Amino acid sequence: MRRVVQNNLYMLKIIHSVDPWLIPLRLFMTVLVSATYFLGSTYLLQYALNAVGEGKGFFDILWMAILFVALELSADLVNNAFWQLYYEKRRYAVGQQVNLKIFAHADKVELACYENPEFFDKFVKALGEADDRAMNVLDNVAGILWCVVDLVLCVSLVASVHPVFLLFALIPLVTIPLRAKYQKGVHDKDMEIRRIDRRKGYPHRVFFVADYAKELRLTAMPTYLLKYMKDASETCRRIHAKKGGLLTLLECGCIVFGNVLPTVLTTVYAVWRTVVQGLMGFGDCFVVLNTTMRISGVLLDSLDEFMNFRNNARYIDTMREFLEYQPKITDGDAPLPEGGDITLHHVTFQYESASAPTLQNISMTFGAGQRIAIVGANGAGKSTLVKLLLRLYDAEGEITYGGVPIKSFDVREWRDMFAAVMQDFHLFAVSAAENVTLSRRAEGDEENITRALQSSGIWDKLYENGGLDACMTREFDPAGVMLSGGEAQKLAIAHVYAKKNRFVILDEPSSALDPIAEYEMYRTMLDACADCGVIFISHRLSSAVLADKIYLIDGGRVAESGTHEQLMAHDGIYADMFRKQAENYQETRGGEVSV
Ligand code: ADP
Repeated sequence: MRRVVQNNLYMLKIIHSVDPWLIPLRLFMTVLVSATYFLGSTYLLQYALNAVGEGKGFFDILWMAILFVALELSADLVNNAFWQLYYEKRRYAVGQQVNLKIFAHADKVELACYENPEFFDKFVKALGEADDRAMNVLDNVAGILWCVVDLVLCVSLVASVHPVFLLFALIPLVTIPLRAKYQKGVHDKDMEIRRIDRRKGYPHRVFFVADYAKELRLTAMPTYLLKYMKDASETCRRIHAKKGGLLTLLECGCIVFGNVLPTVLTTVYAVWRTVVQGLMGFGDCFVVLNTTMRISGVLLDSLDEFMNFRNNARYIDTMREFLEYQPKITDGDAPLPEGGDITLHHVTFQYESASAPTLQNISMTFGAGQRIAIVGANGAGKSTLVKLLLRLYDAEGEITYGGVPIKSFDVREWRDMFAAVMQDFHLFAVSAAENVTLSRRAEGDEENITRALQSSGIWDKLYENGGLDACMTREFDPAGVMLSGGEAQKLAIAHVYAKKNRFVILDEPSSALDPIAEYEMYRTMLDACADCGVIFISHRLSSAVLADKIYLIDGGRVAESGTHEQLMAHDGIYADMFRKQAENYQETRGGEVSV
């Protein structure tokens, strides 16, 4: 129960942080409307019938009726204005606040979380709750308050006529355990279905996103994915079928004991007391029947509201589990040194899902202003090494910058020191300029961005297609620019030219370029980035010759290191790889390469 209250309070606090007036105003309107509704409907009816019985004059009754109806109408008008002009707008603001909270947290958790299906499920469920759950809690609290006000007023009225009728109104309470079981059943079914929905969502996404459009047309994947989707739908159907029978039975029990039985008993007893015993007038009989049934209704509603209270808490639990997950990659508060080398000291790293370390006992240095090439076969661990430098994962051993462990720096500040372009980069569906800055475009940045696009060799193409404001991809704009693989890589690489960095990381963002274009790209970049450290990965060794130092990674270890000349003289793995690749190239004087 404590957790139930805590969870609901957690959401109310979020609402309070968005607008401190929202909760008190919503509750005030609830009391106002429920009290005036009671006066205008039930109490007015009793007053009128009694007044007729007591022989009061027509105008006495009329003025009272006008007064009560006017009160009810005024409250309705005020309430309507409150909903239209205020409440609905704030509902969006609260939903947005919860969404922001979830996305801000998602941004903080380590990359490994995205590879953990259990965590990802929680993320999806939390997002499913973001838009409405907080306001559902407030609606629920207001619903409980409505029931309390209505109940107090109706009970007083019935008790003043004949208190025994209150017993009939209590019968629906026997449905509490049935209702609790029903709500839990619905919640469990919902959660199971959401997990499958995520599986169903995968083919949806694949068919929807343009990235997969080519593969889908060229392979048998559509048939496979449609079967995958069909299977997921079938699983959903089975879950519904399995749980549906019990839920229907529980619902029937609730209707019989919560509605039918109290209605029948009240009617029989009221008619018997009035007609057979003559102890109640027809006016009293009518009012008691009407109000006793209403008490039953309100009791049922309040049961539902209390169940909702518990139900809301269950959904909020899932969201809190996500939000309360403590990211393993945490911020430190040490200031970044003015400069220095990045050094790896005996670094070992194993992915959570892997059975063996991907990198083992790696020690190496990336000097400030040095050009370092990391080479090696596919799967050797080159990209993993770069991810450790960027603190997308933390590893055993230590990485220092200027002698200070990188775990002592603020993560964002640390990552901001780099301009990194990865092999699996994605262009965003925003303007070309924003794909270069990878942030909101600043005033007066045009010259810098244009120069960056010129340096990376993509300016002419963009100039013909809308320039800096050209919208990338056709996600939102039918005239959006669709770039080829190589052109997209050039646009991604422009980021490095536009940003002031201490280190540049290029994790094979040049695979779609031909060897000469790649070589030229690296040469231009190394000239432009003379002041910063450049770490580049390339499986084409023709570019590695440009590096001050080359590390060859093999099986997760540094197998060889040195300059191109030293490694060729060493005549090991590097020299062997270089000679095999060189069969396709001619090496010319000064290390320059041509096809
Ligand atoms: P390279 O960049 O040298 O081609 P990677 O660093 O990308 O190699 O990968 C090294 C090894 O780690 C590969 O065997 C790869 O399958 C594995 N690996 C990469 N990413 C993950 C991950 N997120 N989870 C588990 N294993 C991974």
